[in-house]
Formats: sequence, structure tokens, C-alpha cells
Amino acid sequence: MDLSRFPRRRYSLGPTPLEALPRFSQALAALAPQGRGPEIWIKRDDMLGLFPGGNKTRKLEFLVADALAQGADTLVTCGAPQSNHCRITLAAAVKEGLKCRFVIEERVPGSFREDASGNHFMFRLMGVEALTVVPAGSNMGAAMQQVADELAAQGRKGYIIPGGGSNALGGLGYVACAQELQQQFFEQGVRIDQVVVGSGSSGTHGGLLAGFLGNRIHIPITGIGVSRDPADQEPLVHREAQAVADLLGLNLTIPREAVVSVGGYWQPKYSIPNARMVEAVQLLARTEGILLDPVYTGKIMAGLIGLVRQGRFPPGERELFIHTGGLPSLHAYEREVLGQADLPA
Ligand SMILES: *Cc1c(COP(=O)(O)O)cnc(C)c1O
Repeated sequence: MDLSRFPRRRYSLGPTPLEALPRFSQALAALAPQGRGPEIWIKRDDMLGLFPGGNKTRKLEFLVADALAQGADTLVTCGAPQSNHCRITLAAAVKEGLKCRFVIEERVPGSFREDASGNHFMFRLMGVEALTVVPAGSNMGAAMQQVADELAAQGRKGYIIPGGGSNALGGLGYVACAQELQQQFFEQGVRIDQVVVGSGSSGTHGGLLAGFLGNRIHIPITGIGVSRDPADQEPLVHREAQAVADLLGLNLTIPREAVVSVGGYWQPKYSIPNARMVEAVQLLARTEGILLDPVYTGKIMAGLIGLVRQGRFPPGERELFIHTGGLPSLHAYEREVLGQADLPA
């Protein structure tokens, strides 16, 4: 598939590593039925640019290129108080000489703190121009439009990036990732049986799925919900994958059954820590020296571990975990991930 007709900025040096996790796989085998489990591999998208980068870096390569093409001087986006997406968007804005404004949704009431560490600290350090906090359930599109209108009244030009950078254009970042993976599978001689990826605002899961189907990569993808169970999450991912395929002009109908997600692991609530997340973060850190985050990748890996425990991956299969980043929010939850707080299962 030819992505070269879409304007793109480059924020990473080259492909992110695709690696085996032998010690982690060995530890997981002990948890699997009959003590035999799959071989786990990892795609290090936590090593993308705009460091400490993550999946938003890939989406922003296309979104910011479009903002620049449209003559915008300010990026306007939204997210939760510890949003990786907001922090990486701000880093891209700074690098491009643009201003940046956020609308922050206080999804967990009382969770916004002006002196918070992690991503919020980095918002302040990198100089976000303005930050509006709105209550859970607010219309984020309308709130961002209001910011863009205020800018327009001052003769400026805002460019609105939806939450998580998940529209058709942002999804192209994960079509590019699908193509990068295809090349790495070939060059490294690796046959992967299944991909496990986080599923939130859906640009990552949906973009990757469109990229796999469009490139005839016949590897099933399982999304682990970070904020919704399958009945709510799968239609969102399906719409995103179809929008990406349409933007690419693929003439492809995304089969509904190609969209598979798993729920539960995000409970009790988006961004609220649970004991399974802590187990996952500690296990990967202590077997491979790789850091996951408490809000996203810790719960996504908890989902993978849960599927291994249930015997859902046959022994000897190779499963690829996409590490989507999130490092800074680890610092906002240090006590929890060290096991020093009482947490729900
Ligand atoms: C945003 C995010 C996700 C979820 O990706 P979506 O494209 O929003 O579904 C997963 N992991 C991390 C670290 C994120 O910041």
C-alpha cells in the first residue's frame, strides 16, 4: 500500500525493535495450563520518537503534517489528566514551533491536580499554552471547538486533533506500523501467530487491522480494552478500521468478525490501578527490564497474561505484544506499582 501520497513528518529514527522475551515467556509458562505456554515477542513502540514516545507518535506524524499543510499555528487536543497523547502532541508542537492547548477531561472526579507528577508535570515543563479542565462526560469536540473559536477571534488558527489522535488520518500511523512489521517479520524470519494490542480511542487497533487486511497479513489481532468491554469497544474499532481503509481507497469492507477485543482487565475504571496490572508491570520489569505503565500497557499485558492462564494461546505459538508507551505516568503511581497500596483484583 502506498502511504507516500499522504504528507508526513518524521519523529522517529527508524523501525522500533521487534524482540523475543525469553525470560518473560518462561515465567508465564509456569502460570499456563500444564506449565507450557506461548513464546511472547514485543514490538517496542515505547521507543518511538518525541521521547518518551508511544503510539501517539506514529499518529501525529500524519496529523501534524496536515496541521502544517493547513497553516495552523496551534494544536488543540484533549485527554485525561495523565494523558500520554496530550504530552506527545505538545512535544510535537514544540518541535514544529507551534503552540498547543488542551481540554482535560476529569474522567475520575477529583483526579486533576495542578501539582501532579508524570505527564502533567511534563505539560508544564514543555509549556502548554492553556489547559481547560472539564467534568467527565463533557462534549470534548465542542469544548475543543470553543478553544479553536477563541483562537480564531484573535486572528490565530487552531488545528483540532481528536482524543488519542484517532481519526482516519491518525490511523495511518498504524498502517505504517503494519508495513514496518511485515518487513521485520520477513527480515528477521519470524512467524507470528497472533498480535495483542491495546484498544482505547481505537486508532491503534483499528489502524493496525486496516493495515494488516490491506497488506494481506493474515495474523489475527486481539485488542485488550483499556476503558470499554467488547460490546462498546468493537463497534468503535470497526468504524475506525473502515474509515482508515476508505481514506486509503482500498475498496475493502472490514469484516466485523475481524474485530476482536477482550474486556474486564481495565476494571474497576479507566486509569484506576488494579492488582492484575501490578502483577504484569512487576513481572515484565523483573524478567526483562522493560517498563510498562499503570493506565494502559500494564492492563493490556495483564490481559495477555490472563489469556495465557486460560490456555487461550497454544504452547509454542508466538504472540506479539505491542508496547504502546506511557512511561511517564508510571511516576504518578509509584506506590501502587510497588505493591504498597490495597487494590481491587
Ligand atoms: C493512547 C494509548 C493507548 C490506546 O491507544 P488508542 O489508539 O487510543 O486505542 C495504549 N497505550 C498507551 C500507552 C496510550 O497512551
